[in-house]
Amino acid sequence: MFNLILFGPPGSGKGTQSERLIAKYGLKHLSTGDLLRSEIAGATPLGMAAKSFMDKGQLVPDEVVIEMISSALDNNPQANGFLFDGFPRTTAQAEALDKLLNQKGTEIAVVLALQVSKDELVKRLLNRGLTSGRSDDVNEDIIRARIDEYERKTAAVADYYKKYDKVELVKGEGSIDEIFDLLSKEIDERIAA
Ligand code: ADP
Repeated sequence: MFNLILFGPPGSGKGTQSERLIAKYGLKHLSTGDLLRSEIAGATPLGMAAKSFMDKGQLVPDEVVIEMISSALDNNPQANGFLFDGFPRTTAQAEALDKLLNQKGTEIAVVLALQVSKDELVKRLLNRGLTSGRSDDVNEDIIRARIDEYERKTAAVADYYKKYDKVELVKGEGSIDEIFDLLSKEIDERIAA
C-alpha cells in the first residue's frame, strides 16, 4: 500500500492535483471536505452538525472527521493506497490516522506540502467562489477565517510529520501541469525506494 497526504492551505490546489494523482497512481481519494459536503447534501445528522462549523470557516470537531475517515478506510479494503486530502488538519487527527493505518499494517509514505502565498490563496478562492457553488468561497471574511484556522491549527500537522522525516515541500504556484510533475516526481522517488 502507498498512502500519501496532500497537504496545504485552503486554495492550494489539493483538490485539482488529487484528481490527477489518483488517476495516475490508482489511489483511493479521501477528501474530508467532499465527504462532509456529501453528508450535508444528504441532510444527515453528521452533515447538519458539521455545517455550522464549515459555514463559519472553522474546523469540524476532531471526533466527527476521525470517525468519518475510519469508516472510509473500513469501506475500502481493496484499495492500493489512499490519498488523504484535507485530512489530517490537527495534530490529534494525525495521531488518530497513524493509529488507524497501523492497525491495518500500513502507514503514511509521504506528506507533500503545497506552498502558496496568502494573497494568491485569497485570489484563487474568491475566483473559485464565482463557480463552485460553495458558500464558504464567496465571502472574503470566511476565506480569511479558513486560512487563519489553517495557520493556527493545521500548520502544526507538518511539524508532526517532519519528526518522522516524511514532509516534502512542493511549489504550488505555476501551471497545473508543472505542479503535477513536481508531485509525481516525489511520489516516483518514494515508490522506487
Ligand atoms: P479547503 O481545502 O478549501 O479548506 P475543504 O473542502 O477541504 O476545503 O474543507 C472545507 C471545510 O470543511 C473546512 O473549512 C472545514 O470546516 C471542514 N473540514 C474539512 N476537512 C476537515 C478536517 N479534517 N477537520 C475538520 N474540519 C474539516
